[in-house]
Amino acid sequence: MGFWWRPLGVLASVMLVALFLWAGWGWVAALGFLAGIQAFVMVRRLWQEFRLARWLENPDEVEPPDANGTWGDIFYRLQKLQRRQKASRSELTNALEQFEHAAMAVPDGMIILNSNDQIEWCNPASRIYMGMDCDRDRGQFVRYLLRQAHFLEFLDAADYSRRLVCKSPVNREITLSMQLVPFGESKKLLVARDITDLERVDAMRRDFIANVSHELRTPLTVVGGFVETLADAPELPAAESRRYFDLMLDHTRRMQRLLDDLLTLSRLESAEHALKDETINVPELALALKAEAESLSRGRHRIRLDIDSDAWLKGNLQEIRSALGNLVSNAVRYTPEGGEITLAWRARNGEGVFSVTDTGEGIAAEHIPRLTERFYRVDRSRSRETGGTGLGLAIVKHVLTRHDARLDIQSIPGKGSTFSACFPTTRLQSAPEGATVIPFPERQAAG
Ligand code: ADP
Repeated sequence: MGFWWRPLGVLASVMLVALFLWAGWGWVAALGFLAGIQAFVMVRRLWQEFRLARWLENPDEVEPPDANGTWGDIFYRLQKLQRRQKASRSELTNALEQFEHAAMAVPDGMIILNSNDQIEWCNPASRIYMGMDCDRDRGQFVRYLLRQAHFLEFLDAADYSRRLVCKSPVNREITLSMQLVPFGESKKLLVARDITDLERVDAMRRDFIANVSHELRTPLTVVGGFVETLADAPELPAAESRRYFDLMLDHTRRMQRLLDDLLTLSRLESAEHALKDETINVPELALALKAEAESLSRGRHRIRLDIDSDAWLKGNLQEIRSALGNLVSNAVRYTPEGGEITLAWRARNGEGVFSVTDTGEGIAAEHIPRLTERFYRVDRSRSRETGGTGLGLAIVKHVLTRHDARLDIQSIPGKGSTFSACFPTTRLQSAPEGATVIPFPERQAAG
């Protein structure tokens, strides 16, 4: 209502002046005055309309008109409207930009398809997984770019609950899981997720279960068979049943070793099982391992110790002992009678290296990178015969990784192998004051 007061006030004043003029100078003067006012109003109105039209045509570049009175009010309201519109437009643009940036950064490949399955938009990841180029392929039919039969069947089925697992058309090493998501008016989002790692883990899990079942089946079958035989023939001669019991004991121990190794691996892998550091007197440990090797070898090998470093280690004694013990036991098991096994502790390029060298059968180069895989064996029957579980080096690798160390394997078939656990400087520490540093002639590699 405020808008009307000013024009009504002006009109009333004009009429009042016209009446005075009429009363004083007659009707010609009053009419002349009114005609003058009318002409002024018309010219002013044309001028303001012109300014308004010019501004409306190009509101961002032309200065907004400024005036008093009714026109001022109109201009002010229009400007307010324009400002509000501008603000909401920039908010919308910001939101869209943010959305586009987020969609660009999504690690999954994403393609927006219209109702005819033509590409409207795609993100950079879709180039990596599906070879799309948004600038080049916008408007193209997706079926002409991704022509694999199973993809076309998936696209035509338009079953939004289904996922298609397939190899990437641009990189056969990548496995993708594709899904169609409907949105808007008959549009679709095609999402391609890289599941290569998941697939690999799944394959590893399947292999692992198959391997464990296979490892357990033989001893279980043997034990089961003997139990049945003993049950069916209680009158068996004592020597024969003794032999059966010994064999059953052998296989039971084999299962026990397998379960122990599996539990050790699972403990090492579990994130909750944090490493508890303590101080390890390596020369003393080496002595203990030498004694262990002698007991395993039962005089069949010459065992030597070569200690050339006084350094101690920071780590978990039980884990390190079990890892190095595995290397020592492998050397004994894979070295024929009369061979030589050397346990050494040396400083090399700032690292502490504990190595176990044997003059055994050695390993062909192609097997070396796979030795630390679970259940990987070069000679399956040799490993089993000597009581191996196929998990020893997997345990060694885990333990060393937890100690920031690495396993280095050098081998020449027919000549022998050296397995070295290399510990970084950060894991080394000098022997405490007053400790018996190296109290035996092994410093000179004595036997
Ligand atoms: P296993 O229980 O079979 O010994 P490991 O994981 O300890 O399992 O070792 C994996 C394989 O590596 C063994 O089966 C064997 O073929 C090979 N290997 C390990 N140590 C030696 C060695 N010192 N000399 C020759 N071959 C070895």
